[in-house]
Amino acid sequence: MNESRPASMSSFWMPFTNNRDFKANPRLLVSAEGMYYKDVDGNTVLDGTAGLWCVPCGHNQQKIVAAVREMVGQLDFAPTFQMGHPAAFDLAEKLMDYTGHRFGHVFYTNSGSEAVDTALKMALAYHRARGEAGRTRLIGRERGYHGVGFGGISVGGIGGNRRTFGPLLPGVDHLPHTHNLEKNAYSRGEPEHGANLADELERIVALHDASTIAAVIVEPVAGSTGVLIPPKGYLKRLRELCTKHGILLIFDEVITGFGRLTTPFAFDYFDVIPDMVTCAKGLTNGMVPMGAVFTQQHIHDAFMDGPAGIELFHGYTYSGHPLACAAALATLEVFEEQKILDNAKAVQEYWTDAVHSLKGLPHVIDIRTIGLVAGIELAPIDGKPGARAFGAFKKAFADGVLIRTTGDIIALSPPLVLEKKHIDELFGKLATILKNLD
Ligand code: PMP
Repeated sequence: MNESRPASMSSFWMPFTNNRDFKANPRLLVSAEGMYYKDVDGNTVLDGTAGLWCVPCGHNQQKIVAAVREMVGQLDFAPTFQMGHPAAFDLAEKLMDYTGHRFGHVFYTNSGSEAVDTALKMALAYHRARGEAGRTRLIGRERGYHGVGFGGISVGGIGGNRRTFGPLLPGVDHLPHTHNLEKNAYSRGEPEHGANLADELERIVALHDASTIAAVIVEPVAGSTGVLIPPKGYLKRLRELCTKHGILLIFDEVITGFGRLTTPFAFDYFDVIPDMVTCAKGLTNGMVPMGAVFTQQHIHDAFMDGPAGIELFHGYTYSGHPLACAAALATLEVFEEQKILDNAKAVQEYWTDAVHSLKGLPHVIDIRTIGLVAGIELAPIDGKPGARAFGAFKKAFADGVLIRTTGDIIALSPPLVLEKKHIDELFGKLATILKNLD
């Protein structure tokens, strides 16, 4: 393993990175174990973000490592078009168990973005298969993040992402976001105000007619745009309205899936069952790229029994890759054997109190928490949006803690195996950083 600095960093065009700034002052990780990364200089870095929200069981879980090693020596690749391999079927059954048999089927992808585009295409094809080809409109939400595919950025609600690429999919509307600093500041769990924002769906229906609308997609908790938590009753209302109008409801659980809210999925937490769920990240504990779409039985039935009699013409070379399936099967075992969700529940209150203890520190204008995720919003520097929080990110890394920022919001999402001592370390350092931040 190469643990030294690369000879040159000029050729790798890094994703979602200020490439010039990074290359002048790089942060290079060379190994990881449990709650910590190690950087190229031998410093330990406490992982406050589970990588990119994707390592719920902690780094380098040996059971998952062993499962991947064993599979790679046995079956390096197998197509899942017109053939298959046992692990892909075993995993599908286990995922149906893990989600309490609320879904009938699972479709494999390689990432969250692919899961989102798959779910959107399934929604369009579902209505066609049932003889409702006019249902083509898709509805997302402001400040929603649904990955980087053309479908995902079209339903996504991040202005910067959308503006960079010109016209996107036609026939897309956006519900308003639910963030309300005036009414819901410093919320713990679901904020009180804003369930009525779901009724905006009625406005869109009135405008276009329900018979033109295929699906609504939302993140139950919007993660990448700064931890926006749905107001009490909002998701239930959205479910009711979608059902009333024959519109499919898709939950994008790429971040919230696999324990982030201390329940297996956010739909468990909020007790709202969508027609489809997208997931990725924690599915393999981040070790091998994989995403998935869970569909209710009626979605699959429409293709099998519908008047059009079509199968879904869609899939990826690496759908259900053997290494990904092996990693995901082992991850589900780790969740069970190591009682990962029990630990998340056990530390959740201590975590929440620690996050909210930052209230009153310089620049902090809001804190919001749910499960083991937190958003800490800072007042922006005039004319330099995002600069203050990015400064905190750089200082934190230099001080040995990994945090994530989006605009001027610090988002925290640690591995679910964290202990009180890690919480103390994380917030001790963060408090000092905030006190000394420009
Ligand atoms: N949906 C959501 C809600 C996400 O948070 C992300 C990634 N952060 C994605 C989709 C895209 O996933 P990926 O980066 O694996 O394509």
